[in-house]
Amino acid sequence: MNLLNFMSNFADEESCVTYLKEQRERRGVVCKHCGCTEHRWDAHKRCFECRNCHSRQSLRSGTVMQNSKLPFRYWIATMFLLMSTKKSFSTEEIRRQLGHKRYQPVWEMVCKLRDVMGKRDAQYSLDGQVELDDGFFTTERPEEEKDTPLKRGRGSQKKSKVVVMVESAPSQRHPRKGKPSKVVGHLKMQVIPDLKTQTVTDVAKKHLEPSVELTTDDSTSYHKLGEHVQKHQTVISDKKNVEKILPWVHIAISNAKRLLLDMHHRNKHEYLQYYLNEFCYKFNRRYFGEKLFDRVVLAAISYNTDFKSRTYRRTTCG
Ligand SMILES: [Zn+2]
Repeated sequence: MNLLNFMSNFADEESCVTYLKEQRERRGVVCKHCGCTEHRWDAHKRCFECRNCHSRQSLRSGTVMQNSKLPFRYWIATMFLLMSTKKSFSTEEIRRQLGHKRYQPVWEMVCKLRDVMGKRDAQYSLDGQVELDDGFFTTERPEEEKDTPLKRGRGSQKKSKVVVMVESAPSQRHPRKGKPSKVVGHLKMQVIPDLKTQTVTDVAKKHLEPSVELTTDDSTSYHKLGEHVQKHQTVISDKKNVEKILPWVHIAISNAKRLLLDMHHRNKHEYLQYYLNEFCYKFNRRYFGEKLFDRVVLAAISYNTDFKSRTYRRTTCG
């Protein structure tokens, strides 16, 4: 979907309703009470009525838009904006583009969309040859730790820990100068509370197929990963090894860090996962082109969100 198509296809609220209704019908509407898949569309109330038990479900029900009062056009336009760039938009920018007065509802909408992107990607596990490492992302100090002395380095309260996993296989062709010698596949990033061996192992179990051939550095956090995957190779973490053997995990970390810094400036730890969801979602669909919009709409109508409404204490324009 390019800008001109978007403008002609979604000129008003009604065209957005029609499009979302069609997308939900294509996916299949199931009655929550009797499981019937035959429905009648009530255009006036914008809801589906079960042909068997006549119970109704709204167009928003069971989707990311459930409980939202924002117009459907906001949701469609925001999905279009987020998918129209390899980078992203800050919530403040989206609020301005939508012409909405209040920040809070727009911020919640964007968080919810990023949440369902993560849910969609959680359906897939990584397979084949995988690089794994941890990254430290600068975030604001949690409110409850404001009075404790600031630690330096990796243990700092201003650093959020993230496990990064990426499929990466040796290239069949001779690599070009200055380019990684491996070919990259899918990417996952998971915020974790600490780097304990058990924490990292649990994340790997959740996101990696048992058939994976894993490469990491020789950190003690990774000692038990070999019990879960088929093969676990550890390398000594120095610059030469990193560039040759773990290239993509570090490219992914530095690209994500740069994007977050550019777009959102200062991030809070509790929302970091949402930003990473969007980054990974787009990275994993980097060849989808204009189809990306349809895919994110499919994710939006397929998943409900766990995001709990809360007031954003605004210290940044993220
Ligand atoms: Zn029914």
